[in-house]
Amino acid sequence: MQIALAGIGKIAIDQHVPALSASEDWELAATVSRSGTVDGVDAFDSLDAMLEACPEIRVVSLCLPPVPRFEYAAKALAAGRHVMLEKPPGATLSECAELERMARARGLSIYATWHSREAQQVAAAKAWLADKTLKSLHITWREDVRRWHPGQDWIFEPGGLGVFDPGINALSILTEILPDAIHLREAVLSFPDNRQAPIAAELAFRHPGGAAITCDFDFRQEGEQTWEIEAICAEGTLKLTHGGAQMFVYGAPAGEALTGLAGEYPRLYAKMAQLVRNGRIDMDLSPLRHVADAFLLGRRETVAPFHF
Ligand code: NAP
Repeated sequence: MQIALAGIGKIAIDQHVPALSASEDWELAATVSRSGTVDGVDAFDSLDAMLEACPEIRVVSLCLPPVPRFEYAAKALAAGRHVMLEKPPGATLSECAELERMARARGLSIYATWHSREAQQVAAAKAWLADKTLKSLHITWREDVRRWHPGQDWIFEPGGLGVFDPGINALSILTEILPDAIHLREAVLSFPDNRQAPIAAELAFRHPGGAAITCDFDFRQEGEQTWEIEAICAEGTLKLTHGGAQMFVYGAPAGEALTGLAGEYPRLYAKMAQLVRNGRIDMDLSPLRHVADAFLLGRRETVAPFHF
């Protein structure tokens, strides 16, 4: 199937283009970007121009930051195209609901992707936890924003999510692997004095079985980077490290150990191909709902100004 990629920035170049090149399902037939291009692929500087010139391209994948994404998604759906959304699927829950409504009304597929759910050991962790009694779970998601988002000021603008940009990846794994629904109980959000989005956050959730579920998100981590989830159960401990790429059960490594985002984007595109073929929609908004709850309920603290 032919696909167009819009927003040719860091994640498009790092992950989407290689995943599409390696896929038997997809042919990258056009890009839409005000500045970025991909060698050998037709380039358009506006979505309208691409939609008009390329009626044969039935699928559009959007890699823009969340705030501008809605207008692109709505235009693509209105033009009868299936849509794939980078995470987070939008800047608000309501706009995501509107995109889903538009897709359903037109019989189109829409996919709110969560790349971290496709990390190597997430499915195995979910299977292990399915019949265990959870006592506590702690997430440590600490990374260096200067290293992973160099100069991306949008991330600290309204709707950019700040530390929840990576933190929502942890929440996407959490909501995938836990057999029970949870909801936010309290949060503390640390806003740099000169920014509109938090640079750190601490969250605590209510779990129906009474397990203590807590998160520590921080964008100021220099040196070693930490993306870990530790679940302590009555039967033993499970630990996911490297963003879900590695797993330890009862303290011992389990399954194949990978690093980075290996396999995540190829699996997302394989799922999108399935959704389009089967005429289905996948719009799980639960990670974004927890982030919205943190902004609703969180106590705010002001911390030192942040400059890239
Ligand atoms: P980015 O490089 O800063 O932006 C992606 C592209 O979006 C830009 O190159 C730009 O393309 C376009 N864009 C930016 N602002 C725009 C606006 N106001 N209107 C229209 N187009 C605009 O960001 P990124 O790191 O690729 O992240 C994009 C999305 O991917 C985010 O939702 C992020 O959470 C997600 N993501 C990022 C990573 C990562 O490691 N960076 C990993 C996984 C997921 P043009 O200026 O050329 O049009």
